[in-house]
Amino acid sequence: MSKGTARYDRVVRTLCQGCHCDCGVLAYVKNERVVKIEGDPNHPQNEGSLCPKGLTATQFIYHPDRILYPLKRAGERGEGKWQQISWDEALDYTAYRFLEVMNRYGPQAIAWSWGDAAHQSCLWSKQVWLRAMGSPSHWHSDAHYCYHPLLIANRTTFGDHSTSEEGLDYRNSKSIFLWGGNPVMSHPTRARDIMIGLKRGAKLVVIDPRFTELAAKAHVYLPIRPGTDDALAMGMINIIIQEDIYDHDFVQDWCIGFDDLRKRAAEYTLERVAQITGLKTDDILKVARMSATITPCVHHGRMGVQQNQNCVQTNRAISILVALCGSLDVKGGHVSKKNKPVGFKGVFHIVDSREELRLPAEIEDTRIGAQQYPLFSGAESMAVSCAHPPSVIHAMLTGEPYPVRANWFLNDIAVCLEGQRENYQAILALDLTVGSDFFMTPTMELCDVILPPTMWLEKDGISEVFYHIGEQDFIASRQKVVEPQGETRDDSAIDLEIVRRMGYEVPHGWKMPQDFYDYQLAGMGITFEEFKKIGYIQGNVVYKRYETEGFDTPSGKVELGSSILEKHGYDPLPYYLENAVTPVSRPDLTEDYPLNLISGARHVAYFHSNNRQIPWLRELEPMPRLDIHPETATALGLKDGDWAWIETPTTADRVRMPVRLTRMVGPNVVSAPSHWWFPEQEGPEHGCFESSINAVLTNDGPYSLISGASTLRGVLCRVYPVEEKRA
Ligand code: SF4
Repeated sequence: MSKGTARYDRVVRTLCQGCHCDCGVLAYVKNERVVKIEGDPNHPQNEGSLCPKGLTATQFIYHPDRILYPLKRAGERGEGKWQQISWDEALDYTAYRFLEVMNRYGPQAIAWSWGDAAHQSCLWSKQVWLRAMGSPSHWHSDAHYCYHPLLIANRTTFGDHSTSEEGLDYRNSKSIFLWGGNPVMSHPTRARDIMIGLKRGAKLVVIDPRFTELAAKAHVYLPIRPGTDDALAMGMINIIIQEDIYDHDFVQDWCIGFDDLRKRAAEYTLERVAQITGLKTDDILKVARMSATITPCVHHGRMGVQQNQNCVQTNRAISILVALCGSLDVKGGHVSKKNKPVGFKGVFHIVDSREELRLPAEIEDTRIGAQQYPLFSGAESMAVSCAHPPSVIHAMLTGEPYPVRANWFLNDIAVCLEGQRENYQAILALDLTVGSDFFMTPTMELCDVILPPTMWLEKDGISEVFYHIGEQDFIASRQKVVEPQGETRDDSAIDLEIVRRMGYEVPHGWKMPQDFYDYQLAGMGITFEEFKKIGYIQGNVVYKRYETEGFDTPSGKVELGSSILEKHGYDPLPYYLENAVTPVSRPDLTEDYPLNLISGARHVAYFHSNNRQIPWLRELEPMPRLDIHPETATALGLKDGDWAWIETPTTADRVRMPVRLTRMVGPNVVSAPSHWWFPEQEGPEHGCFESSINAVLTNDGPYSLISGASTLRGVLCRVYPVEEKRA
């Protein structure tokens, strides 16, 4: 126990939910108020460490601007006039309005959307609600280019999901490849695991147009041209095959499609790959050899890989690299997801299983996007099936393929999705807007009714998803530390009550979220109350499960050429595809738009659009900053800290932010952060069109053929000084 415990009434062991890492936390309580947060030294995820988001949770829970009571719009939408109402009234009103929309347009016209970690724990209860109504309209603001391209690639290749933040055994790996990701900022516990791996002697390769914090620690840093990771991965496969340094036994016994892959990879000669990626041939050779000979290796592909037109095939190529290098389901490699404690029912299993909460196939096939992206949105989706976000926005505005007239917003869609201007109009156009978020964001400002949720210090839960970390695969309990502030309620409790007030039964008679947690744990022979006392339970990690169970693909093998992709009319083998608006694909635009924009750089203080109102976090990064090379900036007449406009040829908007002169990007590249808005500015917009990079990125495609991803990387842009002084 930490020093000074006596100064507190009690210490409660729980889990942060400021991002997906779900770190173990010790919350110190005095007079029923949380007064201090520390990392739990006994929690295997973070072993006592916490990032600033977790450490500032007391500023979050007690923030004076938190929405603490149910609110009903009292003026025009977005006018900022609210009436505080009782929960009874709020729930009755919301249920009644949902039924009204359903009776008029059908259940598919009612949708819900999310994207922040804070609401992931209600995935199951929202699914209860959707299933009760028979609506397929679940969408996630960045699923099409965040996790789903990885999931689809993993599952079509080796039938499991072990990639990026989940399943990579960085700590025991011998070589770590980081493709387009910066976990120091986005997933701090994974950065910590990488550092542990490095201390134990692993080699680190960072492939990223940005010289990130981990690039500074790397043995090899490859400043790849944005959006060309597919070419590099194919080139590495080619070298590994040509030099005969792949794992022969594994390929012979457990892979199919090797000859076709060899022929396809041969198209990616060293010189061609160097020319596409802008990398040196020696460096490409070096990293290919490292991956094959310094094993087991892990390959972590993140947003720099995902936010491209060819994201699924790029991830396929990276997954294949892992297989060729014999690093699937071995200690120090990519470990199977099947090692949770025996008897535990995971939330994704429940949501994805038709015997549990998954919608019938015929309803899923009506989901928006199901026809175009069946592996992402349809009945055969490879993961938690989602409607295609840009297509949902279009449906809200046009009624095609069918009207979406009501949406329950759990995150700030007005900021968190490309095509921002159109998204804002889509929200305004709805018949019913319901919100559940912590603060009055630009999206909450446009809601008709707000049902305020508890934050993680005020609720129970079971965490599992990001606890699949190679040598460990466990579950842990979140427990309520203090009573909720104001009248806030657990998201899932709200959902179950809405289900009941709409006249539906809740499965298994679940009355409260804790009933669901009991259901998840029943197969382990414990109750949630007992689990809270235990804290976390480790599963038994078994390597090389495939030797007894095979791989969960149609062939039971690693499919280098994917039969699932082929069945759906896609190329079964990975390939390189140039994004649509780059200097290579659109040389005609380069005179007006000479720079390459990479967007979405994260800061550890923030998660998506969250936390801009938390004082200590805002102090860490008070404003968005455009990273620009000093020579480029000088040529444009920009000094460090000057404000600059950013424009792309893909939208009519422009956004502005201060520039930071840095050599972490090359002279042709600029890097902008994502999700910026300014709570201190006047509503309803709160400055959301001023600096949010999503305003200059189109949601009109072209999209990834498989996951529907928009292209947010390497987009041509121009940057020029803001002449007038900003107020
Ligand atoms: S990394 Fe930070 S925000 Fe994420 S769970 Fe851990 S402490 Fe919370």
